[in-house]
Amino acid sequence: MLKKYDRSVRCKEGHVFTTIWVPLASLKAVRLGFKRYQHCPVGHHWSMIEQIDSSNATTDELARASEVHDVGIP
Ligand SMILES: [Zn+2]
Repeated sequence: MLKKYDRSVRCKEGHVFTTIWVPLASLKAVRLGFKRYQHCPVGHHWSMIEQIDSSNATTDELARASEVHDVGIP
């Protein structure tokens, strides 16, 4: 659906997943630039997450991030 807002992110514990990052909706979230506080679907905990891309993550991390999307988890 909102594919263009999908972003690969990494939590403080090192888990990687994909989440929807909508700039216009960010007023409702705790936001610190490219970091924010949200639920991690991999470790099932709340953590500070940051956006990752090829400049600050390995291709392996990006591949794993693409396999887990928080919207797909009930
Ligand atoms: Zn995590």
